[in-house]
Formats: sequence, C-alpha cells, structure tokens
Amino acid sequence: MFKLYIIILPPVISLLALAEYPTFILIFISIFIAICFYIYERAKENQAITIKNTNLKKDKEWSQNTLIKNSLYFAKNTQPIMVLDRKYIIISSNEASHKFLGYNPDGKNISLVLRSPEIDNAIDKLNSINIFTSVDFTVFSVVQKYLTAQLFYQVINSNPTIIITLSDNTNQYITDRLKTNFVSNVSHELRTPLASILGFLETIEGPAKNDETKKKEFYQIIRGEAERMQRLVNDLLSLTKVEESEFRPPSEKIDIIQCLESAIDVTKVIAEKKNIIIKKKFDNQNNMYIKGNQDQVIEVFENLLDNAITYSIKGKTIKVSVDSDGHYAIVTFKDQGIGITGEELVKITQRFYRCKGSIKFKKHSSGLGLSIVKHILNRHEGKLEVSSELGVGSEFRTFLPLI
Ligand code: ADP
Repeated sequence: MFKLYIIILPPVISLLALAEYPTFILIFISIFIAICFYIYERAKENQAITIKNTNLKKDKEWSQNTLIKNSLYFAKNTQPIMVLDRKYIIISSNEASHKFLGYNPDGKNISLVLRSPEIDNAIDKLNSINIFTSVDFTVFSVVQKYLTAQLFYQVINSNPTIIITLSDNTNQYITDRLKTNFVSNVSHELRTPLASILGFLETIEGPAKNDETKKKEFYQIIRGEAERMQRLVNDLLSLTKVEESEFRPPSEKIDIIQCLESAIDVTKVIAEKKNIIIKKKFDNQNNMYIKGNQDQVIEVFENLLDNAITYSIKGKTIKVSVDSDGHYAIVTFKDQGIGITGEELVKITQRFYRCKGSIKFKKHSSGLGLSIVKHILNRHEGKLEVSSELGVGSEFRTFLPLI
C-alpha cells in the first residue's frame, strides 16, 4: 500500500504545482492523502484479523469434534459414548450409541434422549474438572433395560464437556434376580417341612406326651416331612451337578434300551402299587446307541416314568416305546393321566413349577424333576417334546442323537 502512495503522490503534486497552487496547500494535500492511505490500511488489517479469528474459531471447533470423532477409543468402542457441551447438547456420539438408541442423537438435549432424571441430576452436580460419577437407571422401550451411565467432566480444547458412556446390565440383573428367586424358593420349600417337624415334636413332647397312638401317628408325619426335605436336597444336588456338567459333552457309548429297562425296573414297584400297567413297545429295537452318560440317561427315563405313574389314577396303562428317525433315538412315554393345560405346558420345565391340579396327586414334590430332565437332554444335545390334553393324558418324547 505504501508503494501505491509513492506512485500516486508525485503526479498529483505535479498537477497541482502546474495549476500554481501554493506550497502549503501542496504539503497539506500530500499529508491528507497519506492519512487516508493509513486509515484505509488499518481498516483492511482489522478486517483481516477478524476473518482470521473466525477461521481460527471454526478450526478449533472442527479440530475438537474431529479429534473426538476420530479417536479410536470413541469411534471403535462397543460401548455407547456421547459427548455433551455445557448446555447438555450432544455434540458427538459414536456408532455404538446410534445402534443403542436407534438413531444419531447429535444436536439433541441429553434429557430428551435418555429421559432419565437421575442422569440430569448427576450432570447438574458434575461441574469440576476430572470428576467421575456413575448412575444406575432404567429405560422402558420394548423391553425394560437396566443401564449404568458413567459421566466424566473434562475440558477439551478449553471447552467444558461431559462424556457419558453407557453399559447395559440387563443380563446381569436378570441372572441376579433368578439367583435371588432360586434362594427364596429353596428357603420356602425347606421352611414348610421344617416348621411341620418342629410343630409335631412340640406336640409329642407336650399335649400328646402320654398318648402312644397319637405319638406313633405324629412320628410318621415327621418321617414323611424329613423324607420330603431329603428328596428336595437330593433333587437340588442333582440339578446342580447336571447344570455343572451341561457344557461338558458325555463320551461313553451307551445303549438306550438298556437304560430304559433299568428305569422300568426301578419304577415298576410304584406302578404295581397303583395297579398301573407299563406296556413296552421296543422289543425288536437294536443298535440304539448314543454318546451319553448312562446314569443321567436312566435318571431322565426314571423321572418321566415316575411322573407318568404319579399323575395317573389307579388301573391305567402307560405305553413306553422306542423309535428312530435315523438321527435320533425317540423314547415316548404315553400316559392316561390327568393331563396338563396348554397354559401350564410351557412352564413345566421351570424349576419348582407344579401344575395346580397335580398337587393332590403328589403332595410333597419338589417341582425340579423336569428341570433336571431338560438339562440332561441339553447336555446330550437332545430335546424334549410334550403334548397333553387335560383329563385325557400326556405324551413325553425324548430325542437323543444316535451314533
Ligand atoms: P414334580 O416333582 O412336581 O413332579 P416335575 O418337574 O417332574 O416335578 O414336574 C413338574 C409338574 O409338571 C408336575 O408338578 C406336574 O404338575 C406336571 N407333570 C409332569 N409330568 C406330568 C404328567 N405325566 N402328567 C400330568 N402332569 C405332569
């Protein structure tokens, strides 16, 4: 610009001198032109500085977001991560959050995205650098989810930000709840016979002290209750053992027919007491071998036979047959018992589940038998199929892969 001033000034002065202007006017004009150039120059510089500043600001924002977005921790993390500005607006979120929420929440307020008053409170309190806090909360979408949010206050490129990471604890929560239910079920099952034993002992030692007939009767009840507790403990131990072994495939070569004969031998006595006939339809079967654990397979058949006998009235028939579809050995237990409603059919393999109408047939049962059956069959890569009609009877079919 100074060059322009030097170029412009001599011809202007010469022209004015030719026009015979006085010297002081010439000096005044040259100073005036100089000042105009100076002012123009400063104005241009200022504009340049403002433009530069705006660019710098843009660069800063760009680099801050790009820095976050491109960081491996942020982008590749399988945990949802969101970064908020001071006004709680999400300025960046990773792929995992998009998957988790079902949309990209950038630009939205975190209160509207997570709808958790617990998180809003935690953010309000989080105002010192490097402070970390953790909040448990639930979200209600199609299914209820149990989540933990970790919040971290940080200054990135001199901007205060809050980083939120989310972890889904739903599975852990369900497992914990199942464990708690299991413990409370077991306690309940044991408490009832225990209370009964203690009650009858008190009566024997008190009011029935001198009544030998009553004492005999009460001792028998005590024995029955003690046996019930023993059965429950045995079933629980059996279930625990089966669950422990579930993911270790069995390796013995075992004969299905032999296992079935053993189970029938054991349960025959109870059937005879109820005048129930067990009809076998597997006399011509051979080469029914599977990879399995003999004791466990016998336990499956015993449980199913025992149920068929228990839930049948006197004098009925139970048909036991063995078949094969080329892949599986199919063992069927068909009874003419009380049957199961469709609603209850889906629940019978759950631990401790007993159908309403069956309690009078087996007062003191644990409701663990079919649970044990299910786990043993799982271990053998087999399956259980049940069809039943209330008042007509039930058919339990086990499928075990042949070798
Ligand atoms: P439980 O020891 O009570 O028999 P299970 O787990 O073996 O426990 O069976 C669960 C429930 O399923 C039983 O309480 C009974 O209500 C029902 N059930 C099982 N087998 C039969 C059957 N053959 N006929 C009718 N109901 C059955």
